[in-house]
Amino acid sequence: MEGMQAETSVKGRLNWLLRMPPEVERAEERDFGAERVKHLRHAIIVGLIVYNIYNLTSLYLMADIQPFTVAMRLFVLVPGSLLIFLLVPRVPPAIRELLLLGGMFVASLLPLYLLYISQSTYASYTLGELPLVLLFGNMLLVLRFRFALVFTSVTCLTALWVVHNKPGLDENLIFPLTVQVVTGLFFTLYGNWHVERQRCLTYLAQYDAENRADRAERRGDELRDLTLTDMLTGIANRRHLDETLDTWLDRRGEVLLLMVDVDHFKAFNDRFGHVAGDDCLRRIANALSIFAARHDGFAARYGGEEFTLLFPVDLETGGAFLADRLVRTVRELAIPHPARADGLTHVTVSVGYAGTTDGGLRDARDLVTRADLALYEAKSAGRNRSKAG
Ligand code: GH3
Ligand code: MG
Ligand code: MG
Repeated sequence: MEGMQAETSVKGRLNWLLRMPPEVERAEERDFGAERVKHLRHAIIVGLIVYNIYNLTSLYLMADIQPFTVAMRLFVLVPGSLLIFLLVPRVPPAIRELLLLGGMFVASLLPLYLLYISQSTYASYTLGELPLVLLFGNMLLVLRFRFALVFTSVTCLTALWVVHNKPGLDENLIFPLTVQVVTGLFFTLYGNWHVERQRCLTYLAQYDAENRADRAERRGDELRDLTLTDMLTGIANRRHLDETLDTWLDRRGEVLLLMVDVDHFKAFNDRFGHVAGDDCLRRIANALSIFAARHDGFAARYGGEEFTLLFPVDLETGGAFLADRLVRTVRELAIPHPARADGLTHVTVSVGYAGTTDGGLRDARDLVTRADLALYEAKSAGRNRSKAG
């Protein structure tokens, strides 16, 4: 059922001239443009060789104008085709397809013109060349269907005009030649429509499948982001912290861990309410996240009013510096906290930090425990400060 719906929607986006929506045509050109150019260049060379073999047929069929036919093929058609051969990879796709149409016009109208001016009794056999030219344009080059339609119609009308107006053409040939021209051209046009339609439907289906896969992948990424994000503050959550800490320790490099706890936060909530408390946590989280990014670190909400930051630095060289800066950064947010009993009037944090220089997974819990103990010391020492573990 779903497959059928997909197919209907694919067909619905192809108009009667077999044009796909512009963005899909652009995508197809990106995916298959180079391949088409390669194919066209091969086909042009093959076409040129075969077309020139027809120089030999006019030796017999149009002996009266033979030098002229050879000259036209050699000096008009050959250079023209070579020019198209050179331009095809260098021009935009729309021009490329128009060039092909132009080339095919010359290739089909030239023999018709030669037929018209030749007085030879056998000249009408030259019409046998026409289906081959059409076959080449519609089925081998595979002109885009809309161009194949124009090409076939113009060639058909011109051929019919020549058949009906050529002086001296045997009356008995007019009807059979008309039928041959029309059916021959119709067949190749029908073939072109079929091949072109298949190309478009196949590509549309592929385009849709790729889009669906992209959407699913994006959705997967979003879901994964959600499982790693703290809903209240939007920064990394506890799970993300655990994964990151494991990865960092696994690398066996230097890791500095800071446990951050908001001071007297219960009193803040009691005074302003939990909604204001949530806002306060968001502002602190935002400041911590910017602080971490600035120092190549990582910030997460550990839970409640506690946060954890990681930095790839040594405890001795960076510990005190970063922890003190962090305490100051939160204080400078200047969030009023009139309810605290220790004389300060703004929201502050206390920080306990610990470090390791050689990583190792067994250190993760140990690192958190040491930082926690140091945090407890910072609280006991009066809050609004940092302590090393
Ligand atoms: P201390 O300086 O010793 O850390 O004191 P404190 O009041 O900050 O510590 P305590 O552990 O007594 O209280 C923590 C408070 O944090 C209690 C709780 O209501 C509040 N809290 C925890 N999570 C949230 C939250 O998501 N939103 C809000 N608004 N409050 C929270
Ligand atoms: Mg706490
Ligand atoms: Mg607290």
